[in-house]
Amino acid sequence: NTTANANLFSRLFDALDDPNRLAIEMLDGTRISYGELIARAGQTANVLVSRGVKPGDRVAAQTEKSVPALVLYLATVRAGAVYLPLNTAYTLNELDYFISDAEPALVVCDPSKAEGISAIAAKVKAKVETLGPDGKGSLTDVAAKADAAFATVARGNDDLAAILYTSGTTGRSKGAMLTQDNLASNSYSLVDYWRFSDKDVLIHALPIYHTHGLFVASNVTLFARASMIFLPKFDPEIIIKLMARATVLMGVPTFYTRLLQSPALSKESTKHMRLFISGSAPLLADTHREWAARTGHAVLERYGMTETNMNTSNPYDGERVPGAVGHPLPGVSVRVTDPETGKELARDEIGMIEVKGPNVFKGYWRMPEKTKAEFRDDGFFITGDLGKIDAKGYVHILGRGKDLVISGGFNVYPKEIESEIDAMPGVIESAVIGVPHADFGEGVTAVLVCNKGADVTEAGVLKALDGRLAKFKMPKRVFVVDELPRNAMGKVQKNILRDTYKDIYANA
Ligand code: ATP
Ligand code: MG
Repeated sequence: NTTANANLFSRLFDALDDPNRLAIEMLDGTRISYGELIARAGQTANVLVSRGVKPGDRVAAQTEKSVPALVLYLATVRAGAVYLPLNTAYTLNELDYFISDAEPALVVCDPSKAEGISAIAAKVKAKVETLGPDGKGSLTDVAAKADAAFATVARGNDDLAAILYTSGTTGRSKGAMLTQDNLASNSYSLVDYWRFSDKDVLIHALPIYHTHGLFVASNVTLFARASMIFLPKFDPEIIIKLMARATVLMGVPTFYTRLLQSPALSKESTKHMRLFISGSAPLLADTHREWAARTGHAVLERYGMTETNMNTSNPYDGERVPGAVGHPLPGVSVRVTDPETGKELARDEIGMIEVKGPNVFKGYWRMPEKTKAEFRDDGFFITGDLGKIDAKGYVHILGRGKDLVISGGFNVYPKEIESEIDAMPGVIESAVIGVPHADFGEGVTAVLVCNKGADVTEAGVLKALDGRLAKFKMPKRVFVVDELPRNAMGKVQKNILRDTYKDIYANA
């Protein structure tokens, strides 16, 4: 599928039925229509071309969430170039790695970082433009005067549209090369699967440097010609107010646990909403049930990753199973294999999740060996996630391969123990990790977060687990902490926990 027919994003830019239709709304009342959004993408695309950006060139952006930042993404794809967003938390030291690795033609950054970034960019001969959190900077100054007319550059389906670095939860971030087809096919698919229409209003409170906020939330909204309310950050009270006129919320699990802490969340305050979607990290079954009881809505959980966009989703109409991530999306194949032999496993057997389909990326940027190692000969991508497919075809994620605990020669799947602990009264959540242990290789260790004032003790937890878990799965130690370490996407950073507790069995 290397045909150079068209830019698959053309539908977004060139097939505009109603230029006045609302695309984005900001909390300060600013409203941007589709006509205006596309005109601005044309202006910025003209600036990119005038800066020498050619089809296939990378445009790196470390920009706060704003409309011009989203416009830069659209303009880059429109110009046939490759969008490369960078986490706004990255320091100059980290940016040096990403910029040297990606060799972009242009870097767009916050004015406060321009000096430091210019020095880095100079090493790879990249130009630099600025774009501030208020949307002001050299890029927008020039773009405002540029011509809005722009002929969308034709690209092959297999040409790159973006490089996104993974979240770095399990190691150093890798650049995932995503093609035009990867992004466009997944967007069309999700529009249908989640029944998006131009009547929808999405509450967009996610960052736009990550696949969730950029591709899932923004692409799906724009491809459906729906509108979104762009929030600079997550704020539960504001979100609950917006639910009175919005229809969809997409969030990470921590959105849902924090919204549940607000007394304002109720059946009444969510009655205008039609869909709550969760992803990027596991949604606790308890959270799912509590949400359903409080609001009358079953959260729709889905599973994806930077490398593959979305793989599976709970059904729109059928049962949304707590703790499961649903069925493969149309055109996507999911299988579970034995991590050692690679042999496909039967239903309900736990192994490595593998994925194949138009959503699966082309490979890791400048890492041909790593790319080769992560693909099977028949084209399946080895996700690194452990899980199973149950009798009804629902996929369950049981944690990362790297988080598997091997204790006394037995495989221990953290999720199984976490689910038992999470269901105990007073426990909010838990993380089970393996910590070096002289006798067992790894000792199963549980770290818990509990309700304020709850009487949860190590002895109490161990007693409650006794008889419910096989002996080799039993935690050797249980710790209660105030909170679990999380990255910007709300993912629990088990490597930090493993480091914190690494010496506890040193004398065991
Ligand atoms: P890195 O690959 O750099 O270690 P990362 O895997 O966290 O970082 P992302 O691509 O942002 O980077 O995250 C994808 C991962 O998030 C998946 O592989 C999976 O482990 C997890 N994930 C996403 N959605 C879900 C879900 N609904 N339930 C459980 N895990 C999920
Ligand atoms: Mg990953």
